[in-house]
Amino acid sequence: MSVLERSIPEEQTKREAGEKECLIWDREHECMPRPALEKLQLERLQKVVARCYEKVPFYRQKMDALGVRPEDIKTLADVSKLPFTSKLDLRDNYPFAMFAEPMSNVVELHASSGTTGKPVVGGYTKNDLDLWSDLAARVLTAAGVTSDDIVHNAFGYGLFTGGMGFHYGAKRIGATIVPASSGQTKRQVMLWNDFGATAFCSTPSYACVLAEQVEESGINPVADLKLRVALFGAEPCTPQMRAEVEKKLNVEAFDTYGLTELMGPGVGLECPIHDGLHINEDHFLMETIDPETGEVLPPGSEGELVLTSLTREAFPLLRFRTRDRTQVDQAPCACGRTTARLQKINGRTDDMLIIKGVNVFPTQIETVILSLPQFEPQYVIVVDRSSNFLDDIEVMVECTHEVHEAGEEAKEEARKKLAHELHQMLGINTRIKVVAPKTLERSEGKAKRVVDLRDMTK
Ligand code: ADP
Ligand code: ZN
Repeated sequence: MSVLERSIPEEQTKREAGEKECLIWDREHECMPRPALEKLQLERLQKVVARCYEKVPFYRQKMDALGVRPEDIKTLADVSKLPFTSKLDLRDNYPFAMFAEPMSNVVELHASSGTTGKPVVGGYTKNDLDLWSDLAARVLTAAGVTSDDIVHNAFGYGLFTGGMGFHYGAKRIGATIVPASSGQTKRQVMLWNDFGATAFCSTPSYACVLAEQVEESGINPVADLKLRVALFGAEPCTPQMRAEVEKKLNVEAFDTYGLTELMGPGVGLECPIHDGLHINEDHFLMETIDPETGEVLPPGSEGELVLTSLTREAFPLLRFRTRDRTQVDQAPCACGRTTARLQKINGRTDDMLIIKGVNVFPTQIETVILSLPQFEPQYVIVVDRSSNFLDDIEVMVECTHEVHEAGEEAKEEARKKLAHELHQMLGINTRIKVVAPKTLERSEGKAKRVVDLRDMTK
């Protein structure tokens, strides 16, 4: 039997943390004492740097320009001597120039959505796929998924890593996979009901759409569905949005972190303690940097996350600038894992809007909207540039059915309340348009919360 097809529930070891039962897929690596983990990281870092220098012309040129050689990496801190890799570098080397293996060894390709230009292409060798399965199995196991579960995977299948990543993970665990992919929302809910799925995977915004469909179909999530666990990922999810879905679908939600450049799902996982995202540090080395200066920040500071893939064969990346804003917490977790945790990812550095000189993140607006009972968790932020070259935003948000039925006065009251709360949070006035329920476009994958109408050529 191949390693990929083994069903190994006995490898999922248990640990009780207070009232919570914490399952761990790979106790040896996820719970390694820190000194041993750091020793392993250094060995792997030295190897991957040597491979990149030898096999990827991009890295050889960059390292030569900086005057750094693979043998200069003597400690983990020496990682800061290495060049960064940016999204732009990956685009410049589109599609395969960053690969460290000949195409004959590359067995699968994936790509990011490429919303802002050419997509980023990731290649996987057989060993890379094997590792991906294993790391995705860690993610599912942390959420309590075992071979007894029916896992409904509503992440998009295809070039996007979400679908295949969770698929490989569930297969490795030996769970029953329903490869539903995204879309056809009515049918998804029917399958939940008919197949008795116990876990599902999707973006949090699509989970909201699914929850809406459950309500509409007259299904009672407690009596009719067997769902217990939801695995989110691919986009930020505020605690309010998560609580909304948990309540509507009667599930416990777990966030997961992944990105095409590093592998896809499998980079970070949430355990039942729900206190941040454990990064699989035996395979990914983390740094936090100041996004302006590129300077490495001390542990615990908020900054841009930078990741180095320590074990990837086909597509190893040194110091990849994720543009994700977060903070790293190295304190051991009650679940038993020793791997450091990212505090919630608050969005990408390039999601930040500067409105009237104030930094605004879409997640801040979401937090306020979801704190008010008059609104549905459906909104769009439209950014435009007025004639005086100042950026301006309008928040379009759906009111609840009740507010809509109550008429214009109720809507105006809700609008004023939201304007007031947003002013409290952001310190600026925002235009708000309250629209009827179910009028904004629903997403099947990552939600597009910001519509940018600015004409940058002016
Ligand atoms: P694309 O860059 O085209 O969106 P990816 O699917 O590779 O393609 O996106 C990875 C990005 O998605 C991450 O860098 C991060 O910004 C976001 N992301 C992934 N998981 C999460 C998460 N749990 N919370 C917040 N953002 C996330
Ligand atoms: Zn934990």
